[in-house]
Amino acid sequence: MYNNFLPVICKIENGIIYNVVDILLSKFNEIKKVLLVSDDYIYKTYGNIVHKKLDENNIESKLILIQNSDFTVAQSIGEQALELDVDSIIGIGGGKVQDVCKFASFVSKKNLFSVPTTLANDGLCSPIAVLKMKNGFTKSIGTKLPLALFIDIDIIKDAPIELIKAGIGDILSNYTAIYDWKIAEKNKKEDVNDFAIEISDIAFNVINNISICNIKDDVFLKQLAEAIVLSGIAMHIAGTSRPCSGSEHLFSHTIDRLYKKNNLHGLQVALGSVVAAYLQNRDYKVLINLLKKYEINIKPSKLGLSYDEYINCWKNAKESRKDRYTILNEINEDTLLKKIKDIYIIIEEEFK
Ligand SMILES: [Zn+2]
Repeated sequence: MYNNFLPVICKIENGIIYNVVDILLSKFNEIKKVLLVSDDYIYKTYGNIVHKKLDENNIESKLILIQNSDFTVAQSIGEQALELDVDSIIGIGGGKVQDVCKFASFVSKKNLFSVPTTLANDGLCSPIAVLKMKNGFTKSIGTKLPLALFIDIDIIKDAPIELIKAGIGDILSNYTAIYDWKIAEKNKKEDVNDFAIEISDIAFNVINNISICNIKDDVFLKQLAEAIVLSGIAMHIAGTSRPCSGSEHLFSHTIDRLYKKNNLHGLQVALGSVVAAYLQNRDYKVLINLLKKYEINIKPSKLGLSYDEYINCWKNAKESRKDRYTILNEINEDTLLKKIKDIYIIIEEEFK
């Protein structure tokens, strides 16, 4: 059953948590023994629903509750999957749970069934696991996509609104990431994958074109979930995060590397995207308008970044991944400094 391509099941519906096991069993009759991975809160709130269904269907299961997404935790789950000889891993939870499950299923070659409980970033259906290493830094590790994906709109709606806003922010970054990737190709640094670019662009336009302003609206959440899934697929097809990660992500990585502000990733990259669009001499207002429409305040001071820290992060952003050619490689230091100062004033003015 191990699948190295795209999810076979993708359900984005209200109340789907109650049907996860029935749907899996109707599609994969070889499921006999699973690892159920969650965290304490999510398990008590939603995970137990799936666990009960597994018991009712006489599916043997072992529950693992995680507290963090350390590399060692992910490794240990992979080991347990092999030692217990389970056929599948079911991950119920937010990004940390999904990251450790992606890695564990990848190393153990077990099926991965994902039940994400937030839409905070585009990693939900991406082949990349972000894990914390012993030295305190995070590492993005190439893994695989889940074989089945269940996104329950009722659960997503109950999550803190900031998580939904962060998910929107991560989708907006496609706007500048695509452009940066094309710059890299123009300079013969990398080949783009047109299909991945199209899918990433569609994901951005889902959010760009939707008229609903209430981000807790069921239709809006379904579309955001779809956009996030598409972004993950774009990265999978490209074999790299480049269709959804450009200079705006380098900026965010630099904040994490230098200052560890504990902001949500999607909010940092949304700020990065507005600045990157300005650096790219493109219509940055389209991003500002979208952020304001959904009441997402990304001004540096709101994200705990002082003026000097903001400037310093842009000055050092290129260093975060030297192999990534972006707009930052196209402008000299003086121009960069002038532009990031100009857009800083605009952003602080727009997001009062
Ligand atoms: Zn991202």
